[in-house]
Amino acid sequence: MLKVDNLSVYYGGIHALKGVSIAVEEGQIVSIIGSNGAGKSTLLNTISGMVKRKGGSILYKGKEIPKLPYHIVKIGICQVPEGRLIFANLTVKENLMMGAYLRRDKEQIAKDLEKVYELFPRLLERLTQMAGTLSGGEEQMLAMGRGLMSNPDLILLDEPSLGLAPLLVKTIFEIIEDIKKLNKTILLVEQNAYKALSVADFGYVLEQGKVTKAGNAKELIQDKSILEAYLGKK
Ligand code: ATP
Repeated sequence: MLKVDNLSVYYGGIHALKGVSIAVEEGQIVSIIGSNGAGKSTLLNTISGMVKRKGGSILYKGKEIPKLPYHIVKIGICQVPEGRLIFANLTVKENLMMGAYLRRDKEQIAKDLEKVYELFPRLLERLTQMAGTLSGGEEQMLAMGRGLMSNPDLILLDEPSLGLAPLLVKTIFEIIEDIKKLNKTILLVEQNAYKALSVADFGYVLEQGKVTKAGNAKELIQDKSILEAYLGKK
């Protein structure tokens, strides 16, 4: 479904991605793990067109992906960014509807809204609340719900567990598995390697802008070097 080949990205003199290649099969959860500054967010931001690439190709459903930000929404991709970037001065409901702003299919939008409420009952309880007053976990739910409102086939999910208490991290990862069951494909970037590999089909380790390991997630989670480097804390 998504094929990234030999991707190279620079920020001025910093070579952030050095020939990264990954593949995401339809219906899978693929997790990219790696420490701070490894290039994980850069990879997602390059796929979504937020960051310019120097070289390499990104094919989505066999075609070169649009290079301009937000154009990916039209072809069925959504990005749920690190830091969530919700609209603080809009209500929860208004934020959700912003996710559907390119759509005209009213009936399907209403159905998708119901699905979002099923996935995130907490949002349903807070529809008229200003988004700026939500807790960190609720913000994450809102950012994911808003992304789903564009009815994407592929979801780019950046650090969903960032800054959340352990119980909420567990909830968020359960919801990620529920989203997969809605026939969505998910590319997940996470520092919480254990959780990310637990829900994934396939995984990649990114270190200093390079893929250093790739494999079946169930195998990676038992890999001794990965255990030592990334799975110290569960
Ligand atoms: P984190 O989890 O901390 O976000 P990451 O794995 O997502 O880490 P990136 O944010 O992609 O890593 O950063 C990769 C490298 O590129 C780092 O060295 C970072 O300092 C650098 N970098 C990221 N964004 C910029 C930018 N806008 N300008 C300059 N350098 C940047």
